[in-house]
Amino acid sequence: MTAITVVSPSSGKELGEVTAHTAEDTRNAFDRARPAQRRWQATPVKERRKVLLKLHDLVLERRDEILDLIQDETGKNRTSAFEEVMDVAITARHCGYAAGRLLRPKRAKTSLPGLTRTRVEHDPVGVVGMISPWNYPFSLTAGDAIAALAMGNAVVLKPDSQTPYTGLLVADLLREAGLPENVFQAVTGSGSVVGQEIVAQCDYLMFTGSTATGRKLGEQAGERLVGYSAELGGKNPMIIADDADLERTVPGARAACFSNSGQLCISIERLYVHRGIADEFIPAFVDSVAGMRIGGGHDWETDMGSLISEEHCEHVAAMVDDAVAKGARVLTGGRRLTDLGPTFYAPTLLADVPEDAELFREETFGPVVAVEVVDSLDEAVLKANDTRYGLNASVWANPATGSKLASRLHAGTVNVNEGFAAAWSSVGAPMGGWKDSGVGRRHGDGGMLKYTEARTVAVQHLMSISGNTLVDPDVFAKTVTTALKFGKRILR
Ligand code: NAP
Repeated sequence: MTAITVVSPSSGKELGEVTAHTAEDTRNAFDRARPAQRRWQATPVKERRKVLLKLHDLVLERRDEILDLIQDETGKNRTSAFEEVMDVAITARHCGYAAGRLLRPKRAKTSLPGLTRTRVEHDPVGVVGMISPWNYPFSLTAGDAIAALAMGNAVVLKPDSQTPYTGLLVADLLREAGLPENVFQAVTGSGSVVGQEIVAQCDYLMFTGSTATGRKLGEQAGERLVGYSAELGGKNPMIIADDADLERTVPGARAACFSNSGQLCISIERLYVHRGIADEFIPAFVDSVAGMRIGGGHDWETDMGSLISEEHCEHVAAMVDDAVAKGARVLTGGRRLTDLGPTFYAPTLLADVPEDAELFREETFGPVVAVEVVDSLDEAVLKANDTRYGLNASVWANPATGSKLASRLHAGTVNVNEGFAAAWSSVGAPMGGWKDSGVGRRHGDGGMLKYTEARTVAVQHLMSISGNTLVDPDVFAKTVTTALKFGKRILR
């Protein structure tokens, strides 16, 4: 195969063909990236920042063109596409400014202050390999690349084969922002060919996608002893306490469950509603979801677009049918919207989902949510944590109750009175998964420092710590023992 045909899922229109690159093409991309990376690393951080801030401006200036392309490739509605544009602009600004602070050498604590002066430096790892999924093809390519580039790395990206044009647009935007040639390259092609070669060549691997693939790539990165981080699947819970503000909770829960047609690793698939509010909340929520406007097109009016493909739509439908056959009740939705096209599925709320239904535990990655009434917040927390995943969670409650509950949830991010956007957009804080939802984090200082190698430089003054020939070993041991005892009280 030499080309990949890209089809718009919502209209069925062919968008074009991109090259299905080979392993050799991918190796060549790394060969080009290495000298380019060395020059980029030598470029002052201030100059690198200018490129990222220019990218920020370009993304906002070319907003509509970017939104059109994201929508065409994914079928998502315009508001969900705008989340990506916003995210990339915020990340470019954040990383542009944060890199200088993070890359500045820092003094570190020593065992014998005065005698040892220690500093920690960070060098870029080299060429970072990135493999991305189709669901947020702008955020999950540009956003991660920005962090790696800010720290002085080059990036070789494999965009998903269903959304390659967005990955290529990221390369275009970075070039226009002034990024030197070959510091960022998007290599289109399949995971089994281009993806595998990236895994074999890179100095660090950033992966976003399914847990199954993430596990396999983790083994390969481990074999090569290169750094690896992965953001994987989720089965994210939302708890609605009896003191939640209903007026905010209904639209908030709707956005949390159905943004990007539920094809969002951090979107909500399980809803635990306190009995004290269930009679008010559930009918209002069902009405709101049933009233959603579904469709394709570039306008801002639709609340939800299509799914990524007919195959994925069939997969979602099969999971819902399985649950219904085993006893689940459809509160709304539960069917394909074939009058709109083969990739549309109705936003769906299910009740009484039995434990043996596949979607009870497994991610549907579609617009399907299981609603359950609970008698207490303790029960809600137990149920929320009863999963092999731990990516995101959401709590709707009085802020004080919500904040306390949040600390009991086993998830990388917990949003109080918000579905996912508050934590995701907190770019200064770590974002990622517990348990089967991933390893490592994006965002926060750690999400940038992971693209560096640390170097500890310790300069010893006056006398050596080990192998000291100036002092009698017995005297040395006594002096150090006294110093350590004294130090315990004053050095913390
Ligand atoms: P996937 O099958 O794992 O694919 C993701 C990417 O990995 C694609 O670019 C794919 O390439 C590539 N790939 C697949 N197999 C590979 C291999 N053996 N070696 C190298 N690369 C390989 O994931 P998906 O099913 O498309 O995406 C949906 C999943 O991603 C969901 O589970 C979702 O929760 C998760 N996700 C997580 C996050 C997060 O931040 N936590 C964000 C978005 C999505 P091709 O398909 O082009 O061949």
